[in-house]
Amino acid sequence: MRLLVTGGCGFIGSNFIRDMLARHDGLTIVNLDALTYAGNRQSLADVEAAYADRYVFARGDIANSELALHLFEEHNIEAVVNFAAETHVDRSISDASPFVRTNVAGTQSLLDAARLYGIRRFVHVSTDEVYGTLGPDGKFSEETPLAPNSPYSASKAGADMLVRAAHETYGMDTVITRCSNNYGPFQFPEKLIPLMFSKAVAEEPLPVYGDGLNVRDWIYVIDHCRGVELTLLKGRPGEVYNFGGDAEKPNIEVVRTILAALGKPESLIRFVTDRPGHDRRYAMDFTKATRELGFRPEYDFVRGIRETMDWYRQNGAWLESVQSGAYRQFMDKWYGER
Ligand code: NAD
Repeated sequence: MRLLVTGGCGFIGSNFIRDMLARHDGLTIVNLDALTYAGNRQSLADVEAAYADRYVFARGDIANSELALHLFEEHNIEAVVNFAAETHVDRSISDASPFVRTNVAGTQSLLDAARLYGIRRFVHVSTDEVYGTLGPDGKFSEETPLAPNSPYSASKAGADMLVRAAHETYGMDTVITRCSNNYGPFQFPEKLIPLMFSKAVAEEPLPVYGDGLNVRDWIYVIDHCRGVELTLLKGRPGEVYNFGGDAEKPNIEVVRTILAALGKPESLIRFVTDRPGHDRRYAMDFTKATRELGFRPEYDFVRGIRETMDWYRQNGAWLESVQSGAYRQFMDKWYGER
């Protein structure tokens, strides 16, 4: 298969590309990534070296239909997996415009190019956040109405609707995945787990929003990548598939697990003013993915966290290199105000 992956220099995309190339000899991947602050070509330096004949990097914007079309033609692309997005909720609260530009308009441009060229399958990677928030009970199913609460999740929901419309209107073979919170190697350190790791190692205060009782369902990134792969290979056109890790945890428990894994004291925890519109609880019902695709998460949370902490410990240079001036500026300002 010849695949175009977008956003492959980000957290999940880079894990997906490495995992797919390692396990599928006949696979060629073209990675289209704009290299925003969250994209890092270094995350795939090993892949560039190991798979020079089956891996191509192209720097560019998914909103550039002509570029996408050119890449489809040049590499005889058969399928697309769209990871590219602006992904940080706090940044979307500060300024929603890049989120609308990439997540909504960018997805439509990519769909336009895919339709024009006749791409056989278009997998769009979305998030549980499009469903909004849950009370203490119940889980999100694929039938749950979309009720996004942040500019990030609203822009992802907008993209989901456009992907759906491409199937309904033009008969395109599109499939949407919606997954819960990921963690693992190569995650940008503005997200909870690598942020807490960095702070704990430096013995700086760990900022925890509100009462720390917001609940997320955590999934190890490779389990998510396998879900996306199953969707690509077996998903039914026009369908949505939920993925989760069966590991619901309040944020404070995640932070305590990290401190314990690193042997650091809980006195480093500092509660800060809650994020506006902070969803209380997410939980995923992924029985459809299990039934139709054979999906089952393999990592339990404690093993996943241990391996993730080990990875960050062994890859201090990577962590240092992505914490650029612009990154620090945003983080200092954001948490400084809380
Ligand atoms: P990330 O922020 O780590 O990476 C995003 C990548 O997209 C970066 O490499 C960036 O350079 C690239 N990009 C951004 N705008 C672009 C554009 N206009 N054109 C081309 N490339 C562009 O994100 P992630 O955490 O790896 O998430 C990947 C996808 O998975 C996103 O669509 C996100 O909504 C979805 N998702 C993430 C999670 C999670 O927990 N991280 C959970 C569910 C779904």
